Amino acid sequence: MAEQADVVLVGAGTMSATLGVLLRSLDPSLNIMMVESLDGPARESSDGWNNAGTGHAGYCELNYTPQDQDGNIDISKAVNINANFEISLQLWSWLVEQGHLPEPEQFINPTPHLSFVWGEKNVAFLKKRHELLSQHHLFQDMVYSEDPEQLRQWMPLVMAERSADTPVAATRVPYGADVDFGALTRHLVQYLDGQDHFELRTHTKVRDLKQRDNGTWSVELEDTHTDRVYRVRTRFVFLGAGGAALPLLHKSGIPEGKGYGGFPVSGQWLVCRNPEVVAQHEAKVYGKAAVGAPPMSVPHLDTRIIGGERSLLFGPFAGFTTKFLKSGSVTDLMKSMNVGNVKPMVGAGLDNMPLTVYLMREALQSQKSRMGSLRDYYPQARSDDWELAQAGQRVQIIKQDPKKGGKLEFGTEIIVSEDGSLAALLGASPGASTAVRAMLDVIERCFPKRQKNPDWKERIGEMIPSYGRSLADDPQLARAVRARTLSALRLRRRPA
Ligand SMILES: Cc1cc2nc3c(=O)[nH]c(=O)nc-3n(C[C@H](O)[C@H](O)[C@H](O)COP(=O)(O)OP(=O)(O)OC[C@H]3O[C@@H](n4cnc5c(N)ncnc54)[C@H](O)[C@@H]3O)c2cc1C
Repeated sequence: MAEQADVVLVGAGTMSATLGVLLRSLDPSLNIMMVESLDGPARESSDGWNNAGTGHAGYCELNYTPQDQDGNIDISKAVNINANFEISLQLWSWLVEQGHLPEPEQFINPTPHLSFVWGEKNVAFLKKRHELLSQHHLFQDMVYSEDPEQLRQWMPLVMAERSADTPVAATRVPYGADVDFGALTRHLVQYLDGQDHFELRTHTKVRDLKQRDNGTWSVELEDTHTDRVYRVRTRFVFLGAGGAALPLLHKSGIPEGKGYGGFPVSGQWLVCRNPEVVAQHEAKVYGKAAVGAPPMSVPHLDTRIIGGERSLLFGPFAGFTTKFLKSGSVTDLMKSMNVGNVKPMVGAGLDNMPLTVYLMREALQSQKSRMGSLRDYYPQARSDDWELAQAGQRVQIIKQDPKKGGKLEFGTEIIVSEDGSLAALLGASPGASTAVRAMLDVIERCFPKRQKNPDWKERIGEMIPSYGRSLADDPQLARAVRARTLSALRLRRRPA
């Protein structure tokens, strides 16, 4: 007789953990099973060392405010991401206040977010970007400066030994965040693990899944310690398997997943643990992406606090890979191709040849060349202080496109079966920062009747007071929400 669960969460990354916490709070009687193929939560992209830990709020990421050929800057993406990050901050604040998450310093720390550029054209862009953003209430505390002395105070390592002949500029928001998503995820799962009707099964891999005639799912699991294969029946499955969500979506056979493909991109960082150097930089400093680089390759020099330990990180250096997970197989990409997605994958591949060449070039870079890129941001960097570390894998979405056959996308997409019994999360940007908004989408689309029920509505409102209203359009609400989250998560700093 197969085991039963109301909900099966595939993967113990930040997405499944967030969905688990939301569902548990909405209905404590739900029987939730989380299955993870590795030995514990947050071992893939959600681990602190596998991502950049930027609480993406649109403060410093220049790729969120693209400029068109006529020089117009579009701030809508930055505004949207900022509002969505505030939703995450609200849930985390509530969890801290309830004692379900520990002291905020264990997973989130205030780290000013700066954008830094040099050269006349880039300075003009940043100035205009600041003019536009600072008029919006969500960005009202962003400060702009071209004064090298001011910039030196904000980021001494970046400004040391910089030629006075080249114009420079930066913007700064004091209450940006560095998030240890690994610690956050592990705390969320630990909280869930202490609740009734929740079970985490590690070393347990989903091999296959089939929808039964009555609409429930039969999920085939393998205990990777004993090789035992067995089945669990469930009313709802969430494929939060990171890069491996795509092949599982194909296995589910739902028509909504047809035509999707994946383009994996690996990453590397330079990491510095020398306490003398680390103590001199307290910021996330984002620059402009090199010409031809994908949006996730924007260089940045960051303070990181992972497991309570401070370090500096520079990168990412993107690379070409065929694996869908860090622990995946080189055959992942080939195995993910099928009759339904071969056309979009070939179309997107042909359309993005320069990107593939760029990634291969990046992957073949020498340490000397990586240090050269770092010295654009930290001119006095010494090679001995920096070592190379492997980041997590991203699988970018490939979709059907009527003109080109297929197109490559850099965002996140939630695919839901028509009956709402299965949801899958594809893509990785803006990623963990907006996990709460993404998982609320899953709930709205998969549990529409219950989500409208007054009990659920009231409960969501307790966790996320702004729920159902727009932080982007309501300055008063946004100010009240931010005052609370900055205080609850101790993100407020004195201005420099
Ligand atoms: C280099 C890099 C930098 C990033 N920087 C940022 C950043 O600065 N800010 C930000 O917000 N986001 C960032 N992200 C994105 C963020 O890390 C991801 O969006 C987020 O961690 C994804 O969480 P997840 O739960 O979907 O996936 P994961 O954390 O990858 O978890 C998926 C889990 O599923 C498990 N699994 C896979 N297949 C199976 C199976 N068949 N059966 C059972 N379990 C399975 C895996 O072992 C894994 O534990 C970055 C990502 C990368 C790679």
